[in-house]
Amino acid sequence: MFFDHLGVVWQYEPEGFDLGSGHWYLPDFWLPDLRIWLEVKGHGASDGIGLWERFAQAADPPSDADVAGGVAPALSVLPAAWRGRALLAYGDIPRPGDARPGGVWPAASEAMLASTGDPFFQWCICLSCGRVGAEFDGRWERICCGHSLEGGPESSADHPRLLAAYRAAREKSFEHEHRER
Ligand SMILES: [Zn+2]
Repeated sequence: MFFDHLGVVWQYEPEGFDLGSGHWYLPDFWLPDLRIWLEVKGHGASDGIGLWERFAQAADPPSDADVAGGVAPALSVLPAAWRGRALLAYGDIPRPGDARPGGVWPAASEAMLASTGDPFFQWCICLSCGRVGAEFDGRWERICCGHSLEGGPESSADHPRLLAAYRAAREKSFEHEHRER
């Protein structure tokens, strides 16, 4: 599994949430140390995307300042203990061989790692301490570990540890497919 390979703690479906108007949402993965929710959808799956967007806003609601600045307030808000960034991993697991400096996820309609309204997220790694995160374009200095960019590459989305984890995750999913047949 991708996160085991990276040493990232994960929980599968630890909690479901009432989003109001009779909508209940059970996200796939919670990464407690990174405070990231991850919903995984296969290629071609379009059901539930609207509800995911609603969940993502409830998990990471706009601040009072944002609301004062004209951003619509979230319809429902998760308890503070469960708040974090919500990401959607859509499509096939990226091929490490397709890695380019800006990232591995193509951010195209067939596969992407997305937040609400932003399809350009990439898993990345702090080049100082090795902490894993998910940031726009793999800009690792945005990971909140306090380390900053000092002349290194802006994106670490093609870091060898990440490429090895993508490779391991792809092999696992192929093994699984073959067992199903
Ligand atoms: Zn760091």
